[in-house]
Amino acid sequence: MSLLEKYAKLAVRVGVNVQKGQTLLINVKAEHYEFARMLVKEAYAAGAKKVVVKYGDDIIGKEHAVHQDFETFTHVPKWVVAEYDDYLSQDLCRLSVYAPSPGLMADVDGTKLAAQAKAQGEALKAMREYTMANRGQWSLISLPTPEWATVVFPELPVAQAYEKLLSAILYASRVSEDGDPVVAWNEHNAVLAHQNQVLNDFNFKSLHFTNAKGTDIVVGLVNDHIWAGGEETSEGGHKFNPNMPTEESFTMPDRLNVNGRVYSTKPLNYNGKLIDEFWLDFKDGKVVDFDAKQEKETLEQLLNTDEGSRHIGEIALISHKSPISDLNILFYNTLFDENASCHMALGRAYPMNIKGGTEMSAEELLAHNSNDSINHEDFMFGSEDMKIVGLTHDGKEIAVFDQGNFVI
Ligand code: ZN
Ligand code: ZN
Repeated sequence: MSLLEKYAKLAVRVGVNVQKGQTLLINVKAEHYEFARMLVKEAYAAGAKKVVVKYGDDIIGKEHAVHQDFETFTHVPKWVVAEYDDYLSQDLCRLSVYAPSPGLMADVDGTKLAAQAKAQGEALKAMREYTMANRGQWSLISLPTPEWATVVFPELPVAQAYEKLLSAILYASRVSEDGDPVVAWNEHNAVLAHQNQVLNDFNFKSLHFTNAKGTDIVVGLVNDHIWAGGEETSEGGHKFNPNMPTEESFTMPDRLNVNGRVYSTKPLNYNGKLIDEFWLDFKDGKVVDFDAKQEKETLEQLLNTDEGSRHIGEIALISHKSPISDLNILFYNTLFDENASCHMALGRAYPMNIKGGTEMSAEELLAHNSNDSINHEDFMFGSEDMKIVGLTHDGKEIAVFDQGNFVI
């Protein structure tokens, strides 16, 4: 079995964990058609009733963005919504093979891109809700493209850059020549489950983050929050891994109880634009001031998408010492970079991060201070000197992180 076949098997069996009789929807880049064939083969071997493959291409996407007028570009046809509704009427699971194109859209009108993202986000709301509430299993993995690889390793010839990025991805995903990645993931999931348990037992009221860069922020956690990370369980009772790789423990912040300033430590790739070296000031959970050395306008567009885009929906802890951060590569891909560093997300929260959340209505979630938005944009703010102090409900202060790493 080749390394890529091992990777495909891992994605289908452990990532999305396709069950007999399920429909699997795969989103993949056109250039990854050979890998897509491996996934389809493996999915049918796992008992899938039907596998749907949707190919995408960022270069064509850019042509659309440049040449279509505003109205055409932001229009979501009714049949697209109907198509997704049809998928949702089945016992559906989803697998996305993602490859970013950092900076590809740098010279494209940002308001047009933001309007299209918003229109699509609103039209396909039911699918987003299905995924974020874990109604069915879903998983996100990555494969390199030459364009992405040359952004990550600009000093290398393209073929070498591609190979180097592929090995880094496979290493971070625990796929190796000699080992069995399925076994490696079972062990890894057990470690993450233990870490979540320790955090859940403390049941912190808030977390205070400080570092030398200037971050000084207190993030309140909702009552009855749940720390999660690694393996999750779908509504149908099937285990799956939403992100491969993953190193994080994450939970639900209180959307109205975040105060202070946070400095980013890695660029944020949003709509093909790189927002870099930014800070956000929070007051009572809302971003009230901000600045960025690069793409400040794009950051502003992100924050102004809707009300929930100025509040956070996720807070995640990752030790500075982890396999991904040890690679010391800036991937320009949130799936990897977020696992090298503590992060938070502007926008929607995951309902499963609060007790009973997946059964709550949108209004009930909001009433529990869970954030809602069409966005969920993670950005990294962890650092090698990050200090985190947890405050318990009975007023005790507990050191959670020292010098960038877990100490509990
Ligand atoms: Zn996260
Ligand atoms: Zn996130």
